[in-house]
Amino acid sequence: MSVIDELAAEFARLPGIGRKTALRLTYYLLKRPAEDTRRLAHALSAVADRVRACSTCGNLTEADPCAICTSPRRDGSMVCVVEEASDIGAIERTGTFAGLYHVLGGRLSPLEGVGPDELRIGPLLARLETGPDVGEVIIATNPSVEGEATALYLQKLIRPLGRRVTRLARGMPVGGDLEYTDGVTIAEALAGRREIG
Ligand code: ZN
Repeated sequence: MSVIDELAAEFARLPGIGRKTALRLTYYLLKRPAEDTRRLAHALSAVADRVRACSTCGNLTEADPCAICTSPRRDGSMVCVVEEASDIGAIERTGTFAGLYHVLGGRLSPLEGVGPDELRIGPLLARLETGPDVGEVIIATNPSVEGEATALYLQKLIRPLGRRVTRLARGMPVGGDLEYTDGVTIAEALAGRREIG
């Protein structure tokens, strides 16, 4: 395989990129100054080398633990549970949540073979059992069927630990993705959160 084909094959492995788009991107890069392409390559290897998951919350970070986990200004009595690290950015942009986070790494999906062991549920329970006093766990999984099922599953595990378990208010577009929901809607869903179970 030529290096051109190799690059096109790598692009084609990305989500939403078919073979045609992969080729278009490849030839676009070949037309640009080599310096621009080297800069892209450098940025790719920098994220591959330096970005990892925070060992406490699962956020993507260059420093472990991450800046949120180590910040003295964050309220450790609240932990907001999200599906993906990218959801943290969506909530942070609302500027209305000062607690900590926990990234599950997905949601329960029997059809896709994602069970409790595939998610960071064990580390969440360990955090609640051994960590500083967390009074409330806000479950901010996406408002999809699987996100709701995941929220209920977590509630059943966390409730016996004597913590308040809340869920974002309705109003989030059903089937929508937290990551692509606007800040005002997320802020309202947070403010209107309700105890579940
Ligand atoms: Zn962290």
